[in-house]
Amino acid sequence: MNPYLKRAYELQEEITENRRYIHSHAGVGFDLDDTVERIMSQLRAMGIEGERCGKAGVVVTLGKPGKTILLRGDIDALPIPEQTDLPFASKNGCMHACGHDFHAAMLLGAAKLLKENESALPGTVKLMFQPAEEKLAGARDMVENGVLENPHVDAAFAMHIGTGNPESLVGSVKFTKGPSHASGDSFRIIVQGKGCHGASSYQGVDAISVAAHILIALEEIPAREVPADQLSIVTVGVFRGGSACNIIADTATLEGTIRALSPENREFLIRRVREVAESIAKAFRATIRVEEPTGGTPPSYNNPALCEEMLPFIKEIVPEDRVFVRENQPSLGSEDFAYVSTKVPSMMINLGAGSTEEGYTYALHSPFVTPDEGCLPVGAALYAHCATRWLEENQ
Ligand SMILES: [Zn+2]
Ligand SMILES: [Zn+2]
Repeated sequence: MNPYLKRAYELQEEITENRRYIHSHAGVGFDLDDTVERIMSQLRAMGIEGERCGKAGVVVTLGKPGKTILLRGDIDALPIPEQTDLPFASKNGCMHACGHDFHAAMLLGAAKLLKENESALPGTVKLMFQPAEEKLAGARDMVENGVLENPHVDAAFAMHIGTGNPESLVGSVKFTKGPSHASGDSFRIIVQGKGCHGASSYQGVDAISVAAHILIALEEIPAREVPADQLSIVTVGVFRGGSACNIIADTATLEGTIRALSPENREFLIRRVREVAESIAKAFRATIRVEEPTGGTPPSYNNPALCEEMLPFIKEIVPEDRVFVRENQPSLGSEDFAYVSTKVPSMMINLGAGSTEEGYTYALHSPFVTPDEGCLPVGAALYAHCATRWLEENQ
């Protein structure tokens, strides 16, 4: 057995305890005091001084000068009340329903494995404990606060657990080369009409009717203006307006999200959402305000050469029949690891944490999801081993 994997299994209890502590002390966004304190104290116990970075990030630097590889694990939860009956379930209204408690614990496990092997590392490993992934804000904050410099990062590797689909077998690895995750930008459109009696609609401007025309037209943009083989989507998830059945609505609001796999399509869709909405409003005598997307993230990219290089290292930890390699099968979900992957060659893999075959029917973001802790040692070993092997081959 690979020495890192063997040691990770010896540390399984410690890694699991960290996961459960972080799970029951879930925090959202940058509001992660308990989680960050746990990470810092666990690092101290390993003889490692973690450095704070940005609003709630932690960075660890191990090894010696040379090439630098970054390992990223996100650490924030979601603002949904947990509905599992786990003995360590979170009771504070927030839940690690996206498995970032796993990522934090696996990266802590990797810190220990790498610290124990530090003198043999032929370069530098930087660990990035990242807040606010769910708000698509934490990676950007850490990049702006220098996580990719001092020392300069040459390559980056990230992991996300997956559950509730046929392929997410515990401890399996899946990744796609090329575009891996879509950009994500939210928008809000406020339609201003003119309210009046519902029986005299000619005296007003019906904001709901105008908003309905805008909604249908927005959905046509990716379907009719972007080539069909370039996945993209415009989704309206909020439609609000009106106060009574016999009143023509004065205002209506649409909120939605724009997803694209290339920076060009991202820019195009953001521009067209505005143009189409403004034109329709004008045609129907309404005025509108389109609020610019705030935050958001660019599309994320798995560098094909780095994927090729990492594949044999992954297979040194995970049996070959549990490694699934895809070409251009990106997710339209967004991942703010994009702020790293647009700057340095990067790779993000999916680590199986329970498949439907194995009885794990809930997917991530469900309040009932209970990923399988059996993947924890595999994830810790994958982080440590891929970093070490990459440094050995890139001295
Ligand atoms: Zn996530
Ligand atoms: Zn998530």
